[in-house]
Amino acid sequence: MDEADVLWKARQFVASVDTSNIHVDLNAYVDAAKAKVGFEELEDGESGYTINVKGQPRITVNSLETPERQRFTICHEIAHIVLGLVSQHDEIPSWGYAKRDINETWCDVFAAELLMPYDIFRAKIRDEGEPSEELIESLASEFRTSFPAAGSRFAAVTDLPCAFVTIDRSIIRYASRSLSLRKIGAWIAPKSPVPTGSVAHRLRADEVNGSATQEVAQDIWFSDWEKDRDLWEMSRHYARFDQTVSLLWCDEDDISDVEVSRTRLTTYENDGLSELTGELPWPGKRSRR
Ligand SMILES: [Zn+2]
Repeated sequence: MDEADVLWKARQFVASVDTSNIHVDLNAYVDAAKAKVGFEELEDGESGYTINVKGQPRITVNSLETPERQRFTICHEIAHIVLGLVSQHDEIPSWGYAKRDINETWCDVFAAELLMPYDIFRAKIRDEGEPSEELIESLASEFRTSFPAAGSRFAAVTDLPCAFVTIDRSIIRYASRSLSLRKIGAWIAPKSPVPTGSVAHRLRADEVNGSATQEVAQDIWFSDWEKDRDLWEMSRHYARFDQTVSLLWCDEDDISDVEVSRTRLTTYENDGLSELTGELPWPGKRSRR
């Protein structure tokens, strides 16, 4: 199984379901997976799990988590059922993201497709042009998901050259990129420190919740790009968890003459897994989903 298989299966699953009401409840997906859902107060950081009761999968969701998080958990568990992947992350703390079982990443990718179906999401942003904090906020509320999940989905689906970066403490955890950025091999290295001069770096230094949008030089985020180009960065910092997210974008014209580098494209192939997950795994907590 690879990312393309997961996306294909997720879109096939979505296509088999009447999605008109999924922003209200996820029953159409639950029924299609022939599952049942129950809610219980689980241990802090434990989002949910699935067991078989008389041959039927029964999903248990942590009722103490936010409604958005509970929706993500239901879709993640449906992914386990539909893809036939066992949960394999019980012993691994979520901060060990790099070592997180690949099945869990597949299930997150699948869940993002269910919560924000490609066609519907794409239709919503088609006429919007450039993103704004208000737009991402309204997408998050419309699809009843988190701000980071909607931002990550925007970067993955838009025609604009666009990336969504998740920063955990001072370290870049992953970046999802739009097709146009992937085509030119634009690359943000995971596990590297948040760059000095970025909006994310400045907000984080303030050590309080904050958000800001501002133009920055492209070479702050993309080391191999020319210095005289500009990039927009919209960033949000969550002080309690020391997590920061940044949405980066520029005009189509600004990248039209950027050369495709073979090495960068090769690197992308290896990086393909960490995209589209769309959910921040909070550090220091066990997350048995
Ligand atoms: Zn799982």
